[in-house]
Amino acid sequence: MRQLRLLPHDEHVAGTDLAARLRPRFAQPVIVVDPDDPVMGGPRCLVPVCERLTVIFGKCSAHRQRWIHEGRPEDVHAWAATAPANRRWLQQPPKCAIGSCRRSRREHGLCHSHAHRWHHQGRPDLTGWITRGGGPPLPAGPGCRFPECQLEAEGEAGLCVHHRNRWVRADRPPLTSWLLGCATFGQDRFGLRALPEPMRLGIAYAIQCRVDERRTIIRPYSIHRLLRALPGAGADSLLDRSSEQWMSYLGFSSERGRIERRFLLDAIGYLRDVVEGVGWDAEFPRDVWLLRRLGFPGRDARLSFTGIGPLWLRELIKRWAR
Ligand SMILES: [Zn+2]
Ligand SMILES: [Zn+2]
Ligand SMILES: [Zn+2]
Repeated sequence: MRQLRLLPHDEHVAGTDLAARLRPRFAQPVIVVDPDDPVMGGPRCLVPVCERLTVIFGKCSAHRQRWIHEGRPEDVHAWAATAPANRRWLQQPPKCAIGSCRRSRREHGLCHSHAHRWHHQGRPDLTGWITRGGGPPLPAGPGCRFPECQLEAEGEAGLCVHHRNRWVRADRPPLTSWLLGCATFGQDRFGLRALPEPMRLGIAYAIQCRVDERRTIIRPYSIHRLLRALPGAGADSLLDRSSEQWMSYLGFSSERGRIERRFLLDAIGYLRDVVEGVGWDAEFPRDVWLLRRLGFPGRDARLSFTGIGPLWLRELIKRWAR
């Protein structure tokens, strides 16, 4: 295969071009999978309340774990009927015991401000103090930005204390993408947040191309390992390395990591198509034509004219072939 050296200019074009090519659903760092999608979706987990795809023996990975943890109940369907969804931690966090207060519960069943006030008043009988309303109401603030959270935001992040703590524990990622990730927790999704730019755009574009082509299935768990390995490669773009370099870095071969390997090769192909252009104008001058760029089906099928020595003859045969 011909090795291409890309100029910085090309890469710039590819980066901006890619962002413009991505539809909103694929432009997010978390690409959510609709289980009914013919390319990304598939059979669902047998737990009725679960929205995830089957990974092994009819269950999603989380419910498979839970089933094993609960001693592998023999009547799988009876077990599934009562199994909870994977979204439990998204439940409403507890609020302050004072009826009118919408802040996060911290100590003694109270929010930080009410606990502070109660301490300050010499810790009177707590139950009675709560029943009497804990003094004049605190000034009301905006709501927490976390999806469906009913609590009040405290602090600059716009989150309640409970969700702010979660965000801090996650190492304070960009808030919008973190919120999106939380809102889609328990659904199948491609998590691209850890990828550098423009690599993330390249992977997202490849997923979008796969979906549009409707030829090869692409499910999150089948490229999970690849997505985890890519950030450690020290490259910002898939085009920074040749296909061969990627394969040896990732340890993929035609047997090991077959699905991921095919996806990565396709992704590089899609990116090269963007950078080099498709159609006769772009492809004709080359001495090796990638047939997919000329509208023929197939991934890597190519027509090579390099074996034809005299240039005038090569040109003539190319024109004839066109
Ligand atoms: Zn499940
Ligand atoms: Zn309170
Ligand atoms: Zn909240």
